[in-house]
Amino acid sequence: MTDRDADCLFCKIVAGEIPSDRVLEDDDVVAFRDIAPRAPTHVLIVPRRHVPDMHALTDADDHLLGRLFAAARRIADDAGLGNGYRVVTNVGPEAGQSVFHLHLHLLGGRPMAWPPG
Ligand code: AMP
Repeated sequence: MTDRDADCLFCKIVAGEIPSDRVLEDDDVVAFRDIAPRAPTHVLIVPRRHVPDMHALTDADDHLLGRLFAAARRIADDAGLGNGYRVVTNVGPEAGQSVFHLHLHLLGGRPMAWPPG
């Protein structure tokens, strides 16, 4: 798999070619605010490398998976989400995935219903 998909929106955001409101970045991941927030805090955490979705990861990606969740913890701490928050990743069209570059949604700052729709 190449590191970048030329047609991918989030690859363009990672590269800085499309603006975003970044809240965190390191060697492995970039996190930025969702353009259509569904909660007071709604941040997307994406790998720099193009990966279409969680199901495309392999055992060789365990480090990356850890970095994605470590970023979520840091952002939740920085946002003061001590009362709880939700981390979601949609996999495939039936789950509602619309951008096919792996991303965690970090949602918080309001009560959450369960199950999600
Ligand atoms: P999903 O539907 O799980 O693939 O999530 C994709 C998310 O990307 C949605 O919540 C969109 O609001 C968000 N999104 C789409 N375009 C942008 C953008 N340019 N900057 C930030 N978030 C975006």
